[in-house]
Amino acid sequence: MKAVKLKVLSNEQVSRRYWHMVVDAPGLAKQVKAGQFFNIRCTEDYYPFLRRPFSIYRINQENETLEFLYLVKGLGTKRMTEIQAGQEADVFGPLGTSFSLKEEWGKILLLARGVGIATLAALAQEASEKGIQCVAILSARSQNDLLATETLQGFGAEVYKVTDEEGTSQVGNVEALIDTILSRHKVDAAFTCGSKRLSKLLQDVTAKHQIPSQIALEEHMGCAMGVCFACVCDLKDGENTTQTVRVCKEGPVFPLERVVLT
Ligand SMILES: Cc1cc2nc3c(=O)[nH]c(=O)nc-3n(C[C@H](O)[C@H](O)[C@H](O)COP(=O)(O)OP(=O)(O)OC[C@H]3O[C@@H](n4cnc5c(N)ncnc54)[C@H](O)[C@@H]3O)c2cc1C
Repeated sequence: MKAVKLKVLSNEQVSRRYWHMVVDAPGLAKQVKAGQFFNIRCTEDYYPFLRRPFSIYRINQENETLEFLYLVKGLGTKRMTEIQAGQEADVFGPLGTSFSLKEEWGKILLLARGVGIATLAALAQEASEKGIQCVAILSARSQNDLLATETLQGFGAEVYKVTDEEGTSQVGNVEALIDTILSRHKVDAAFTCGSKRLSKLLQDVTAKHQIPSQIALEEHMGCAMGVCFACVCDLKDGENTTQTVRVCKEGPVFPLERVVLT
Protein backbone atom coordinates (compact mmCIF):
# COMPACT_ATOMS: atom_id res chain seq x y z
CA MET A 1 0.00 0.00 0.00
CA LYS A 2 1.58 3.25 -1.14
CA ALA A 3 0.93 6.46 -3.06
CA VAL A 4 1.70 6.03 -6.73
CA LYS A 5 1.12 8.03 -9.87
CA LEU A 6 -0.71 5.99 -12.48
CA LYS A 7 -1.25 6.94 -16.09
CA VAL A 8 -4.88 7.73 -16.84
CA LEU A 9 -5.99 5.83 -19.93
CA SER A 10 -9.44 7.38 -20.00
CA ASN A 11 -11.68 9.53 -17.81
CA GLU A 12 -15.10 9.95 -19.37
CA GLN A 13 -18.62 10.93 -18.49
CA VAL A 14 -20.78 7.81 -18.86
CA SER A 15 -24.17 9.14 -17.72
CA ARG A 16 -25.72 12.36 -16.45
CA ARG A 17 -24.06 12.10 -13.03
CA TYR A 18 -21.38 9.40 -13.34
CA TRP A 19 -17.82 9.26 -14.66
CA HIS A 20 -15.57 6.30 -15.38
CA MET A 21 -11.80 6.38 -14.99
CA VAL A 22 -9.37 3.73 -16.23
CA VAL A 23 -5.76 3.79 -15.03
CA ASP A 24 -2.75 1.79 -16.08
CA ALA A 25 -1.66 -0.17 -12.99
CA PRO A 26 1.22 -2.50 -13.84
CA GLY A 27 2.08 -4.69 -10.86
CA LEU A 28 -0.78 -3.21 -8.82
CA ALA A 29 -3.87 -4.72 -10.47
CA LYS A 30 -2.93 -8.18 -9.20
CA GLN A 31 -2.81 -6.99 -5.57
CA VAL A 32 -6.29 -5.45 -5.49
CA LYS A 33 -9.38 -7.26 -4.22
CA ALA A 34 -13.08 -6.46 -4.47
CA GLY A 35 -14.22 -4.24 -1.59
CA GLN A 36 -10.89 -2.46 -1.25
CA PHE A 37 -10.51 1.19 -2.14
CA PHE A 38 -8.00 3.82 -3.20
CA ASN A 39 -7.67 7.32 -1.76
CA ILE A 40 -7.31 9.53 -4.79
CA ARG A 41 -5.91 13.05 -5.04
CA CYS A 42 -8.54 14.80 -7.13
CA THR A 43 -6.37 17.69 -8.29
CA GLU A 44 -2.74 18.81 -8.31
CA ASP A 45 -3.82 21.97 -6.45
CA TYR A 46 -4.23 21.78 -2.72
CA TYR A 47 -7.95 22.60 -2.81
CA PRO A 48 -9.61 20.36 -1.89
CA PHE A 49 -6.70 19.30 0.28
CA LEU A 50 -7.87 15.82 1.30
CA ARG A 51 -7.86 12.86 -1.04
CA ARG A 52 -11.21 11.18 -1.71
CA PRO A 53 -11.90 7.43 -1.30
CA PHE A 54 -13.15 5.33 -4.24
CA SER A 55 -13.79 1.60 -4.37
CA ILE A 56 -12.32 -0.46 -7.09
CA TYR A 57 -14.97 -0.99 -9.79
CA ARG A 58 -13.21 -3.37 -12.16
CA ILE A 59 -9.85 -5.07 -12.09
CA ASN A 60 -8.37 -6.13 -15.41
CA GLN A 61 -5.49 -8.43 -14.55
CA GLU A 62 -4.65 -9.20 -18.16
CA ASN A 63 -4.15 -5.58 -19.24
CA GLU A 64 -3.15 -4.59 -15.69
CA THR A 65 -5.65 -1.76 -15.51
CA LEU A 66 -7.94 -0.61 -12.72
CA GLU A 67 -11.29 1.10 -13.16
CA PHE A 68 -13.27 3.50 -10.98
CA LEU A 69 -16.89 4.53 -11.39
CA TYR A 70 -17.65 7.78 -9.61
CA LEU A 71 -20.54 10.07 -8.96
CA VAL A 72 -19.85 13.78 -9.27
CA LYS A 73 -20.93 15.00 -5.86
CA GLY A 74 -18.90 17.99 -4.67
CA LEU A 75 -15.68 19.84 -5.41
CA GLY A 76 -13.32 16.84 -5.24
CA THR A 77 -15.18 14.72 -7.75
CA LYS A 78 -15.79 17.80 -9.93
CA ARG A 79 -12.04 18.38 -10.07
CA MET A 80 -11.48 14.69 -10.80
CA THR A 81 -13.45 15.04 -14.03
CA GLU A 82 -10.81 17.50 -15.23
CA ILE A 83 -8.06 14.83 -15.24
CA GLN A 84 -7.29 14.08 -18.89
CA ALA A 85 -6.27 10.81 -20.51
CA GLY A 86 -2.47 10.77 -20.65
CA GLN A 87 -2.12 12.66 -17.35
CA GLU A 88 -1.29 10.91 -14.09
CA ALA A 89 -3.62 10.15 -11.20
CA ASP A 90 -2.13 10.18 -7.72
CA VAL A 91 -3.65 7.14 -5.99
CA PHE A 92 -2.98 5.74 -2.53
CA GLY A 93 -3.82 2.09 -1.96
CA PRO A 94 -5.14 -0.51 -2.16
CA LEU A 95 -6.64 0.21 1.26
CA GLY A 96 -8.92 -1.63 3.65
CA THR A 97 -10.40 -5.08 3.85
CA SER A 98 -11.92 -6.99 0.95
CA PHE A 99 -15.05 -9.11 0.61
CA SER A 100 -14.52 -12.79 1.23
CA LEU A 101 -16.04 -15.40 -1.04
CA LYS A 102 -16.08 -19.08 -0.09
CA GLU A 103 -15.27 -21.50 -2.90
CA GLU A 104 -18.16 -23.77 -1.87
CA TRP A 105 -20.77 -21.06 -2.39
CA GLY A 106 -22.91 -21.54 -5.51
CA LYS A 107 -24.96 -18.33 -5.53
CA ILE A 108 -24.79 -14.95 -3.82
CA LEU A 109 -27.20 -12.03 -3.54
CA LEU A 110 -25.98 -8.46 -4.10
CA LEU A 111 -28.01 -5.47 -2.91
CA ALA A 112 -26.61 -2.10 -3.94
CA ARG A 113 -27.80 1.48 -3.98
CA GLY A 114 -26.25 4.42 -5.84
CA VAL A 115 -22.46 4.44 -5.86
CA GLY A 116 -22.55 1.17 -3.90
CA ILE A 117 -23.13 -0.47 -7.26
CA ALA A 118 -19.51 0.33 -8.20
CA THR A 119 -18.23 -1.51 -5.13
CA LEU A 120 -20.36 -4.61 -5.71
CA ALA A 121 -19.50 -4.78 -9.43
CA ALA A 122 -15.94 -5.78 -8.49
CA LEU A 123 -17.39 -8.51 -6.30
CA ALA A 124 -19.57 -9.77 -9.17
CA GLN A 125 -16.40 -9.94 -11.25
CA GLU A 126 -14.55 -11.96 -8.58
CA ALA A 127 -17.56 -14.26 -8.11
CA SER A 128 -17.79 -14.95 -11.82
CA GLU A 129 -14.07 -15.80 -11.91
CA LYS A 130 -14.70 -18.29 -9.09
CA GLY A 131 -17.76 -19.81 -10.78
CA ILE A 132 -20.19 -18.34 -8.21
CA GLN A 133 -23.48 -17.04 -9.64
CA CYS A 134 -24.86 -13.63 -8.66
CA VAL A 135 -28.37 -12.32 -8.32
CA ALA A 136 -28.28 -8.53 -7.95
CA ILE A 137 -30.81 -5.92 -6.91
CA LEU A 138 -29.67 -2.47 -8.01
CA SER A 139 -31.38 0.60 -6.62
CA ALA A 140 -30.88 4.15 -7.88
CA ARG A 141 -32.60 7.51 -8.33
CA SER A 142 -33.16 6.89 -12.04
CA GLN A 143 -32.51 4.43 -14.86
CA ASN A 144 -29.77 6.80 -16.00
CA ASP A 145 -27.85 6.02 -12.78
CA LEU A 146 -28.01 2.26 -13.36
CA LEU A 147 -25.23 2.14 -15.90
CA ALA A 148 -23.33 -0.66 -14.13
CA THR A 149 -26.18 -3.04 -14.96
CA GLU A 150 -24.51 -4.19 -18.16
CA THR A 151 -21.21 -4.67 -16.35
CA LEU A 152 -22.91 -6.99 -13.87
CA GLN A 153 -24.80 -8.80 -16.60
CA GLY A 154 -21.48 -9.22 -18.39
CA PHE A 155 -20.31 -11.15 -15.34
CA GLY A 156 -23.39 -13.40 -15.67
CA ALA A 157 -25.44 -11.74 -12.91
CA GLU A 158 -29.24 -11.84 -12.94
CA VAL A 159 -30.10 -8.19 -12.35
CA TYR A 160 -33.26 -6.62 -10.90
CA LYS A 161 -33.49 -2.83 -11.10
CA VAL A 162 -35.52 -0.51 -8.88
CA THR A 163 -35.59 3.27 -9.15
CA ASP A 164 -37.03 6.28 -7.33
CA GLU A 165 -38.30 7.76 -10.61
CA GLU A 166 -40.42 4.65 -11.27
CA GLY A 167 -41.54 4.42 -7.64
CA THR A 168 -40.13 0.89 -7.27
CA SER A 169 -37.30 1.51 -4.81
CA GLN A 170 -39.20 1.66 -1.50
CA VAL A 171 -37.88 -0.69 1.19
CA GLY A 172 -41.14 -2.70 1.17
CA ASN A 173 -40.82 -3.31 -2.53
CA VAL A 174 -37.18 -4.39 -2.23
CA GLU A 175 -38.14 -6.69 0.65
CA ALA A 176 -40.76 -8.39 -1.55
CA LEU A 177 -38.17 -8.75 -4.31
CA ILE A 178 -35.67 -10.36 -1.91
CA ASP A 179 -38.40 -12.76 -0.70
CA THR A 180 -39.13 -13.76 -4.30
CA ILE A 181 -35.44 -14.29 -5.04
CA LEU A 182 -34.97 -16.38 -1.88
CA SER A 183 -37.98 -18.52 -2.80
CA ARG A 184 -36.51 -19.21 -6.25
CA HIS A 185 -32.79 -19.51 -5.50
CA LYS A 186 -30.63 -21.12 -2.86
CA VAL A 187 -28.61 -18.09 -1.80
CA ASP A 188 -25.44 -18.91 0.17
CA ALA A 189 -24.41 -15.39 1.13
CA ALA A 190 -25.51 -11.78 0.70
CA PHE A 191 -23.59 -8.52 0.21
CA THR A 192 -24.61 -4.89 0.35
CA CYS A 193 -23.29 -1.37 -0.15
CA GLY A 194 -24.63 2.14 -0.59
CA SER A 195 -27.71 2.48 1.62
CA LYS A 196 -28.25 2.25 5.37
CA ARG A 197 -31.98 1.59 4.88
CA LEU A 198 -31.39 -1.31 2.52
CA SER A 199 -28.54 -2.61 4.68
CA LYS A 200 -30.89 -2.72 7.68
CA LEU A 201 -33.40 -4.59 5.58
CA LEU A 202 -30.76 -7.10 4.47
CA GLN A 203 -29.56 -7.44 8.06
CA ASP A 204 -33.08 -8.49 9.12
CA VAL A 205 -33.72 -10.78 6.16
CA THR A 206 -30.37 -12.58 6.36
CA ALA A 207 -30.75 -13.02 10.13
CA LYS A 208 -34.18 -14.56 9.56
CA HIS A 209 -32.88 -16.92 6.87
CA GLN A 210 -29.49 -17.49 8.57
CA ILE A 211 -27.57 -16.37 5.51
CA PRO A 212 -24.05 -14.97 6.12
CA SER A 213 -23.75 -11.41 4.90
CA GLN A 214 -21.16 -8.69 4.42
CA ILE A 215 -21.36 -4.92 4.02
CA ALA A 216 -18.96 -2.36 2.54
CA LEU A 217 -19.47 0.86 4.53
CA GLU A 218 -19.00 4.29 2.98
CA GLU A 219 -18.30 6.76 5.78
CA HIS A 220 -16.78 10.21 5.37
CA MET A 221 -13.01 9.78 5.60
CA GLY A 222 -10.18 12.10 6.55
CA CYS A 223 -6.81 10.38 6.24
CA ALA A 224 -7.98 6.86 5.22
CA MET A 225 -4.91 5.51 7.03
CA GLY A 226 -6.41 4.88 10.45
CA VAL A 227 -4.90 7.97 12.09
CA CYS A 228 -7.68 10.58 12.25
CA PHE A 229 -10.64 8.46 13.45
CA ALA A 230 -13.07 10.44 11.25
CA CYS A 231 -14.72 7.31 9.87
CA VAL A 232 -15.54 5.26 12.94
CA CYS A 233 -18.55 2.99 13.32
CA ASP A 234 -19.76 0.57 15.99
CA LEU A 235 -19.67 -3.21 15.78
CA LYS A 236 -21.57 -5.49 18.16
CA ASP A 237 -19.10 -7.63 20.05
CA GLY A 238 -21.43 -9.24 22.54
CA GLU A 239 -25.07 -9.30 23.62
CA ASN A 240 -25.07 -5.67 24.85
CA THR A 241 -21.60 -4.42 24.05
CA THR A 242 -20.09 -2.68 21.06
CA GLN A 243 -16.64 -1.96 19.80
CA THR A 244 -15.71 1.17 17.85
CA VAL A 245 -13.73 0.53 14.68
CA ARG A 246 -12.31 2.61 11.83
CA VAL A 247 -14.00 2.02 8.48
CA CYS A 248 -10.77 2.83 6.58
CA LYS A 249 -8.58 0.43 8.56
CA GLU A 250 -10.69 -2.38 10.05
CA GLY A 251 -13.16 -2.04 7.13
CA PRO A 252 -14.71 -1.00 4.85
CA VAL A 253 -15.99 -4.60 4.62
CA PHE A 254 -17.58 -6.01 7.79
CA PRO A 255 -19.90 -8.90 8.65
CA LEU A 256 -23.32 -7.26 8.23
CA GLU A 257 -24.80 -8.85 11.36
CA ARG A 258 -22.20 -7.11 13.55
CA VAL A 259 -22.60 -3.56 12.23
CA VAL A 260 -24.69 -1.13 14.28
CA LEU A 261 -26.64 0.73 11.61
CA THR A 262 -27.95 4.05 12.90
C1 LIG B 1 -14.62 3.24 1.16
C2 LIG B 1 -15.37 4.18 0.24
C3 LIG B 1 -15.56 3.84 -1.09
C4 LIG B 1 -16.22 4.73 -1.97
N1 LIG B 1 -16.37 4.35 -3.26
C5 LIG B 1 -16.96 5.20 -4.13
C6 LIG B 1 -17.09 4.85 -5.50
O1 LIG B 1 -16.64 3.78 -5.95
N2 LIG B 1 -17.70 5.75 -6.33
C7 LIG B 1 -18.20 6.94 -5.86
O2 LIG B 1 -18.75 7.72 -6.64
N3 LIG B 1 -18.10 7.28 -4.56
C8 LIG B 1 -17.49 6.45 -3.69
N4 LIG B 1 -17.37 6.82 -2.36
C9 LIG B 1 -17.91 8.13 -1.94
C10 LIG B 1 -16.90 9.23 -2.36
O3 LIG B 1 -15.71 9.08 -1.63
C11 LIG B 1 -17.52 10.60 -2.07
O4 LIG B 1 -18.66 10.78 -2.89
C12 LIG B 1 -16.50 11.69 -2.41
O5 LIG B 1 -15.49 11.67 -1.42
C13 LIG B 1 -17.16 13.04 -2.46
O6 LIG B 1 -16.13 13.99 -2.64
P1 LIG B 1 -16.46 15.46 -3.17
O7 LIG B 1 -15.29 16.31 -2.88
O8 LIG B 1 -16.92 15.40 -4.59
O9 LIG B 1 -17.69 15.88 -2.34
P2 LIG B 1 -17.67 16.64 -0.93
O10 LIG B 1 -17.64 18.10 -1.22
O11 LIG B 1 -16.63 16.07 -0.04
O12 LIG B 1 -19.08 16.21 -0.41
C14 LIG B 1 -20.27 16.53 -1.15
C15 LIG B 1 -21.43 16.01 -0.34
O13 LIG B 1 -21.34 14.59 -0.22
C16 LIG B 1 -21.27 14.20 1.15
N5 LIG B 1 -20.30 13.08 1.24
C17 LIG B 1 -18.98 13.12 0.97
N6 LIG B 1 -18.40 11.92 1.20
C18 LIG B 1 -19.39 11.09 1.62
C19 LIG B 1 -19.45 9.73 2.04
N7 LIG B 1 -18.36 8.94 2.09
N8 LIG B 1 -20.63 9.25 2.44
C20 LIG B 1 -21.74 10.01 2.42
N9 LIG B 1 -21.76 11.29 2.04
C21 LIG B 1 -20.61 11.85 1.64
C22 LIG B 1 -20.81 15.44 1.89
O14 LIG B 1 -21.29 15.47 3.22
C23 LIG B 1 -21.44 16.55 1.08
O15 LIG B 1 -22.79 16.73 1.45
C24 LIG B 1 -16.72 5.96 -1.48
C25 LIG B 1 -16.54 6.31 -0.14
C26 LIG B 1 -15.88 5.44 0.72
C27 LIG B 1 -15.67 5.82 2.16
